[in-house]
Amino acid sequence: MNFLTPEQDMWRDTVLRFMEKEVGCEYVQRCDSAREYPYEIYRKVAEAGWLRMLIPEDQGGDGGSIFEYALMCEGMSRYGFDFATAFMVSTFTAMNIVKYGTPEQRQKYLEPYMRGEIRFSISISEPSSGSDAASTRTRATQTPEGWKIQGQKLWCSGAAAENVVIAMLVRTDPEAKKHSGLSVLLVPNSTSNVDIRKLPTMARRATGTTEIFLDDAVVPTENLLGTANKGWDIIIGHLELERIAVSAAYVGNAQQAVSDALKYAHERIQFERPIFEFQVIKHMLADMQTTVDAARLMVYRAADMASNSIPCSREVSMAKLFASETLQTVTRQGMQILGGHSMLPESNMERYFREGMQATIGGGTSQIQRNIISRAMSAGQ
Ligand SMILES: Cc1cc2nc3c(=O)[nH]c(=O)nc-3n(C[C@H](O)[C@H](O)[C@H](O)COP(=O)(O)OP(=O)(O)OC[C@H]3O[C@@H](n4cnc5c(N)ncnc54)[C@H](O)[C@@H]3O)c2cc1C
Repeated sequence: MNFLTPEQDMWRDTVLRFMEKEVGCEYVQRCDSAREYPYEIYRKVAEAGWLRMLIPEDQGGDGGSIFEYALMCEGMSRYGFDFATAFMVSTFTAMNIVKYGTPEQRQKYLEPYMRGEIRFSISISEPSSGSDAASTRTRATQTPEGWKIQGQKLWCSGAAAENVVIAMLVRTDPEAKKHSGLSVLLVPNSTSNVDIRKLPTMARRATGTTEIFLDDAVVPTENLLGTANKGWDIIIGHLELERIAVSAAYVGNAQQAVSDALKYAHERIQFERPIFEFQVIKHMLADMQTTVDAARLMVYRAADMASNSIPCSREVSMAKLFASETLQTVTRQGMQILGGHSMLPESNMERYFREGMQATIGGGTSQIQRNIISRAMSAGQ
């Protein structure tokens, strides 16, 4: 199964080699166990120039395609989805500034981002606004000092790291209909009266996810991204790119889970033979690899369509649904194949399994993806 161009093939190999030689599975495991953000590798990724890949050339980047970006996300999540999240959340959020930023905002944020000096996070969710993402309550009011923000955001991944600018969905017109009256503000995480607390979650331990309390925090008027009260349009486009990236990363992590389980099945001797020789284990592994290959094809289809500007919200949701469920399923099967050993951090499988459990929730739950797919089917798409 290889229909990549020679250049794409080479790019995929480059990312995988980088992960093996410059990062290593132990580093990813250590960051997870210590709940430490992967600063060292973030710097290396910036030095390698990979943060510029999606940024168009006329904005100082390399102008890479979404497909190439998906290949990068797939490779970088090899040893854990959470590790890749540190880069993905920054890169897909940066694209909102590419698309909607003023020339001043692009100059102020994109260059330092590409050098690895600042990062981005996306903050849509709130305590009472999850799947119903437009039910935003956090309120921003225009004052002579700038936008004054009052409220609470939840699950903002990567926001507690150093030098993060948060793209935050806020309600700016409470009189307007639900999806109208929303705006996106750029909120540096060092802003006064912004209290960011890392949450002790089961997964997403290194990049971290957070709750954010805003108590009359003020950001300058020019920190509005795009047009006031048109923020929902930004979020729709954002979610499409985010879902392609995370789906590719689920596939990368799922592939490693299958490879680890296969290796273990050959090495582990019980009843005087490798457990691989038991048909039930062999078949489990065959099913696992088949599902991962199917998920990869779905992700490549969605990424290819997006790269060619073909409308693909249905295909993106299918990829998100199938790839996230695949990561969850194959890591659960991987746990079974590794037996008791799977429970230890050094097995890595328990980390992959934890990531699989959050995959069907973060970025829009499996149920919401099914809603999007069935809506598109009904509309004849
Ligand atoms: C690790 C992690 C990282 C995250 N990172 C970010 C981030 O960086 N930025 C950000 O903004 N958010 C982030 N999120 C939030 C994530 O997007 C939400 O958790 C997700 O959208 C679901 O919202 P909820 O958790 O409030 O669940 P709810 O919306 O309360 O859903 C609960 C259950 O009800 C189901 N349900 C709800 N509505 C429907 C419906 N209409 N039809 C069928 N079933 C439905 C859901 O599928 C789910 O099973 C993150 C979440 C996690 C777990």
